[in-house]
Amino acid sequence: MSIDFRLPMTDDLGFCNVLMSALGGDGANMAGKLLYKIGCTDFGLDGGFDARYGSEKKGTATDVSVRFCNLGTPVRQSGPTKRPHFLVVFHDDLIQPLDLGAGMCAGAVCIVNSEKSPEAIRQLLKLSGVKVVCLDATRIAAESRSRLNMPLFAVLCHELGFSDAEVMRIIKAQWPRAADANITAYSSAVSQSTSQTFERDELFSERPVPLGQGPIGWRNMHNGGTIDALTHSTINRDNRIAGRGHVPKFDEGACISCGICLTVCSDPGGLLWSEGRMKGIDEQYCKGCMRCVEVCPDTKKGRALTIDYA
Ligand code: SF4
Ligand code: SF4
Repeated sequence: MSIDFRLPMTDDLGFCNVLMSALGGDGANMAGKLLYKIGCTDFGLDGGFDARYGSEKKGTATDVSVRFCNLGTPVRQSGPTKRPHFLVVFHDDLIQPLDLGAGMCAGAVCIVNSEKSPEAIRQLLKLSGVKVVCLDATRIAAESRSRLNMPLFAVLCHELGFSDAEVMRIIKAQWPRAADANITAYSSAVSQSTSQTFERDELFSERPVPLGQGPIGWRNMHNGGTIDALTHSTINRDNRIAGRGHVPKFDEGACISCGICLTVCSDPGGLLWSEGRMKGIDEQYCKGCMRCVEVCPDTKKGRALTIDYA
């Protein structure tokens, strides 16, 4: 089915750029692929898709780019975007370490999984002339028993101007067994998000993409081809950006050491075991996906792994 849909914003080449910034295991790749498929097959668009992800160890930061254009626009490449019109941030802790506000287009929409206000998020992004949309996607996903990517995907589709009813119809068809959870997550995300538009002001001006953050090439390589290891390595990264505020709460007294959590954890280093017993969560490795919370069984003393919103 094709719908007469026009993109809300485009750059000089006719592309509307979407960038998702997430951690391995968050489902950004799946959300990006679904967005691209829906745009091209149901909303009459064309474009390109690029997912940059590698090891899921230690909460590795990943990003996914979807670049939409109207049919008939020449598509010459599908690489990652550095100039997004729509930015989706899966954890607000990623904003400052990755400087996600750099390179945003004027009038851009920033969708952020956060309990903070749009004003607080715009201060982290250091941006003006943008719209900031905040939602507690982690809580919405847990309450609806969906995944983190669904609430963020919902608000992105809504802000792009895709018909909510049409997108929900497609989601139901794509995952019929998870339809109730996903539709609940979608509706809750759209209705519970809060937004604020910030006019261009003196506080923050538009910032270009820092040279050191792009791929290594002739513009940022030193004479003789030497690579600046401090800029282009992850050796100094604090991997706890993955978990702050997002790791499960562990109650050792309720744990029966059944080991089920180990079977679902995408980075078992996040689960601390000693002498056959589960001992806790290692924040250096856990990326807060909450899969272990979903499978941890109810015991007579309660549930060992829970989400603590306090
Ligand atoms: S799934 Fe829950 S009860 Fe079983 S070992 Fe893991 S934390 Fe303990
Ligand atoms: S310990 Fe739990 S929340 Fe942390 S990465 Fe593993 S499954 Fe996800």
